[in-house]
Amino acid sequence: MDHFLYQDGALHAEGVPIADIAAAVGTPFYVYSTATLTRHFTLFDDALDWGDHLVCFAMKSLSNQAVIKVLADAGAGMDVVSVGEYLRAKAAGVPCDRIVFSGVGKTAAEMRTALEGGIRQFNVESEPEMIVLDSVAQSLGLVAPITVRVNPDVDAKTHAKIATGKSENKFGIPISRARDVYAMAAKMPGLKVIGIDVHIGSQLTELAPFEAAYKKVAELTEQLRADGHEISRLDLGGGLGIPYTRSNEAPPLPTEYGGLIQRTVGHLGCEIEIEPGRLISGNAGLLVSKVIYVKSGEDRDFLIIDGAMNDLIRPAMYEAWHDIIPVVEPAPGLTPAKYDIVGPICESGDTFAKAREMPPVAADDLVAFRSAGAYGAVMSSEYNSRPLIPEVLVDGDQFAVIRPRPTYEEMIARDTLPEWLK
Ligand SMILES: *Cc1c(COP(=O)(O)O)cnc(C)c1O
Repeated sequence: MDHFLYQDGALHAEGVPIADIAAAVGTPFYVYSTATLTRHFTLFDDALDWGDHLVCFAMKSLSNQAVIKVLADAGAGMDVVSVGEYLRAKAAGVPCDRIVFSGVGKTAAEMRTALEGGIRQFNVESEPEMIVLDSVAQSLGLVAPITVRVNPDVDAKTHAKIATGKSENKFGIPISRARDVYAMAAKMPGLKVIGIDVHIGSQLTELAPFEAAYKKVAELTEQLRADGHEISRLDLGGGLGIPYTRSNEAPPLPTEYGGLIQRTVGHLGCEIEIEPGRLISGNAGLLVSKVIYVKSGEDRDFLIIDGAMNDLIRPAMYEAWHDIIPVVEPAPGLTPAKYDIVGPICESGDTFAKAREMPPVAADDLVAFRSAGAYGAVMSSEYNSRPLIPEVLVDGDQFAVIRPRPTYEEMIARDTLPEWLK
């Protein structure tokens, strides 16, 4: 559920009319609901109430400072995948013992910054990374707490670009080699093994792949303990999917997911970490755009809007579906129109939807993309020299710009001319 509803015929974000934000900020923009963010975090937190746990928000899904602060204030940890995200988390006031560092390509410089600044754990993804982390930690006279990310070779049954748990993916070490790798880690004075990490993919709409992966992790925990390792923490990754369309079958709820975790690994007495991104941020955000033209084509009408693939790349990159609704509530019983909904960018890929049925709209009307909070603003760019899309946060009946749209002058001034061209 979210907090974007029609009230008196106008779409609101919590208590704020979307049209008011559009008038103040211009279009396109992202708007996030504080209540939805905290509600989704709390659902996960409550679902793991049966034991020691930390819910680490996957910052890569939405990394604005204000959003991070909302979640950190609610008690969330952060899962970061670059030193940039690490520094963002710290800047938003997240305590370093609540920051987990994931990712296949951590550099020595990134490791150094995180070790010096403090970190809850590194999720190590390969032997070469382990060797570098050991030497960086030793050079600083520190010991790096680690889990090893294992690849359980399960099919997440999701889009190929966001599946990470099959043996052909670049992530983690094969679970079959885990015992050797843990033995190697245990001999490294700069590392302290504390647990196991797994993350099999994103936008999973069934629990079975999680169950298969977590059973393998439980087995591995017992083997590693028998080998003499102290396994006290299990990081079970993120990936629980969200409904992108109302007609979709409903993905499992965080409570069911929490129950599955308890059933599969609860008996091991480990502290549980999870790293949800999309399920916390996805339905907490809308992308709001304005219709520029309605253009009649040979066999279809085109809705040309002022948002484009540089603002929201998911449809172009993952064939993703977003519900697109008018900001003025349509009259009941209206015959739907059928549109190809496109942005102004000079690429056919700049298409949000084909032959989409929706209530008829006209030039200058506002439309909202639902479920756009995750992997939206964070993937935006200035392609076609379209200034970076702004972000807005709503809390009750107040709203604030949390990332302003640069002016054209600011955008252009970021480039600098070399001396010889001046
Ligand atoms: C992307 C990612 C997540 C979050 O995935 P969601 O589908 O957004 O929940 C969690 N952990 C790791 C390591 C990731 O790469």
